Amino acid sequence: MLELHLHLDGSLRPETVWDIACTENIDLGCYNAEDVKNKMICPPDCRDLNEYLDKFTLPLMVFQKASHIERFAYELTQDLAKEGLEYAEIRFAPSSSMKDGLSQTEVTEAVISGIRRAMKECPSITVSLILCCMRGSDNHALNIETINVAKKYLGKGVCAIDLAGAEAIFPTSDFEDLFRHAFKLDIPYTIHAGEAAGPDSIAAAIDFGAKRIGHGVNCIYDPELIERIIKENVTLEICPQSNIDTKVFPNVNDYPIKKLFDMGVKISLNTDNRTVSNTNLPHEISLAHRFGMTDSDIETMWKYAKEAKFN
Ligand SMILES: [Zn+2]
Repeated sequence: MLELHLHLDGSLRPETVWDIACTENIDLGCYNAEDVKNKMICPPDCRDLNEYLDKFTLPLMVFQKASHIERFAYELTQDLAKEGLEYAEIRFAPSSSMKDGLSQTEVTEAVISGIRRAMKECPSITVSLILCCMRGSDNHALNIETINVAKKYLGKGVCAIDLAGAEAIFPTSDFEDLFRHAFKLDIPYTIHAGEAAGPDSIAAAIDFGAKRIGHGVNCIYDPELIERIIKENVTLEICPQSNIDTKVFPNVNDYPIKKLFDMGVKISLNTDNRTVSNTNLPHEISLAHRFGMTDSDIETMWKYAKEAKFN
């Protein structure tokens, strides 16, 4: 098994979040680790991606010091190895961990150090990192810095960049210059698109040169776009539980994973946020079965993921 779409800050162990909050005297408004866990998990009445993203406020409160960031990266890599993954691409936004004075370089070095420590102990897994630029109106300089840090560590722990955040508020088309810059620097990229916005968002990401799309499920409304995705060999990073949480399809039975797969779209299966969506790959596999995927389809999805991995 392998996964290509997994956010570090959405996949922290709640007991570690609680431990750090106690040690550092950080008031999370929680009583114990169980309470932390309940507050980190997306509730069933979550209405959309914007509400889902609120769930990242709490983990980011304890994701500001290099030693803690290193520990979280180490633990997630351990968790993935224990689950039986042979390869994973973990993503995070270095610019979200600068509140206590860390630079994006220091944040990235802490994560690299954590995954390397775990890989030494668990040689069955290889982990590579994707640095996320963040959607927003006033963070252009921070995003350019993220790309420059990705260049610095490309092939030395980092394999690509991404664009994450509130897609319905900040459209993909506003961020072309970031991907021009990344293209010039020869940095591969994936882009969150077609999750909280429609087919135009996906088309813009492909126009920018993305060969992988985070989610992309809303392409189902545009047959011509689906043809383009197939023709241009774009792989979709599908995250079923996360899409259920954010109500991408009002009727969960409309989830189009099987339909897209049968049309010939290359799909990989992912968790997105293991803690926030209270999921893991075995759970995503059971959801894929529920949506009509066979064992053989799931094998093919691992193959697609292998072909599309950045490292
Ligand atoms: Zn994501």
